Amino acid sequence: MSKACEKALVVLSGGQDSTTCLYWALQRYGHGNVEAVTFDYGQRHRIELDCAATIAKLAGVRHTVLPADTFGALGGNALTDASITPEQGSRSDDALPNTFVPGRNLIFLTFAAALAYQRGITNVVTGVAQTDYSGYPDCRENTLKALELSIRLGMDFPLNLHAPLMFMSKAETVYLAQEVGAMEALAFSHTCYNGVQPPCGHCASCELRAKGFAEAGVPDPLIERFAREA
Ligand code: ZN
Repeated sequence: MSKACEKALVVLSGGQDSTTCLYWALQRYGHGNVEAVTFDYGQRHRIELDCAATIAKLAGVRHTVLPADTFGALGGNALTDASITPEQGSRSDDALPNTFVPGRNLIFLTFAAALAYQRGITNVVTGVAQTDYSGYPDCRENTLKALELSIRLGMDFPLNLHAPLMFMSKAETVYLAQEVGAMEALAFSHTCYNGVQPPCGHCASCELRAKGFAEAGVPDPLIERFAREA
């Protein structure tokens, strides 16, 4: 199959990285060959779902929202459990932060692959990266390689799992966003663990995002949008 008729399904959370990946896929596969999928996993911050829908609309791609609410029932993490507060700032020890949702990426990518299978789409794109992040083990390349193989075997389907940001620093992902034309959409993305707009500016996620834009020497279009509206 030539690249021209290949299609891609992007896992779109509404955040900075998955938004950049959506535009990466549009540039690589072309408009009309890209779709997005978002998971409603019982996240405390419904704003993520709204952001994903807005960005998919801006990008002009078909957008599917799939329920994956078992994570809320499992509890025990700050993203679905309202009684747990996301940890502040960056960490110095090796323990996983309480924003880690065990199994989340494994399940999301498997569901995405199942949807891709049904649609005859052989490329699934995810915004995970193993550099510069909180050390989530399901964001590492070896996990993705193993999962890709499991899906190929288990679905008898030639799936390619792409993680274009895997080895990029946060600053490099900002440059990529510029290159693929994602900056306008990034003004509508959502990163803050505290689920507020404008973003809180002090959670680990806000700090990481701000650091990336600062290192790239590029203003964050999300912050600029709120500054304009203020
Ligand atoms: Zn925040």
